[in-house]
Amino acid sequence: MVLATRNENKVKEVAQFLAPHDIEVVSLNEFPDLPEIAEDGETFKENAVLKATEACMFTGLTALADDSGLEVDYLDGLPGIHSARFAGEDKNDSENNKKLLELMTGAPAEQRTARFKCVMAVATTECFVYSTEGVCAGVILEEPRGAGGFGYDPLFYLPEYGKTFAELDLETKNKISHRARALNGVLDIIEELKIMMREEEEE
Ligand code: IMP
Repeated sequence: MVLATRNENKVKEVAQFLAPHDIEVVSLNEFPDLPEIAEDGETFKENAVLKATEACMFTGLTALADDSGLEVDYLDGLPGIHSARFAGEDKNDSENNKKLLELMTGAPAEQRTARFKCVMAVATTECFVYSTEGVCAGVILEEPRGAGGFGYDPLFYLPEYGKTFAELDLETKNKISHRARALNGVLDIIEELKIMMREEEEE
């Protein structure tokens, strides 16, 4: 499969997850001529489907794409699809977190609920498109905690673990995260595809 990203960390994570299932993953870095794919959908799903479809059409391989972000209830779902560039085009994680905290000033505890969402889409060369969503629920703290992870991890608190994502060990995060849950859904899709391919071969 081709993974519709040039982010090698993501490729490593997904490749490790899929390796025991006999699936080899390559990244878009193997296809330097592929033009930048515009992520101009209005939902995580639209963006994931867009990226998977383009990558599949360009490479001729089954493609997997993801889109993810944080939805905060007090902010009516923001930053949502704008998670990566919430504070502006050239801003970083800490500026995104600062903006989030500013917007949450005065929000009472019961309205600080939030969730990370990840949608993964699979596009096949027969032009079938499948998608699956993973969700991880938590609450937004009033100040950052922990040094691990990335993005909004230091503000995202998991009451059942008593830790933020930035305090949680990576092994646990990789089991319960929105991405891990979406990847489990991808396995189901792949199993379906394998069955369909076997049936076609037998016909
Ligand atoms: P992307 O889908 O990988 O482009 O992620 C979009 C943005 O969502 C990232 O830049 C982060 O700001 C945020 N995000 C997605 N997943 C996580 C996570 O596991 N922890 C913290 N932030 C995340």
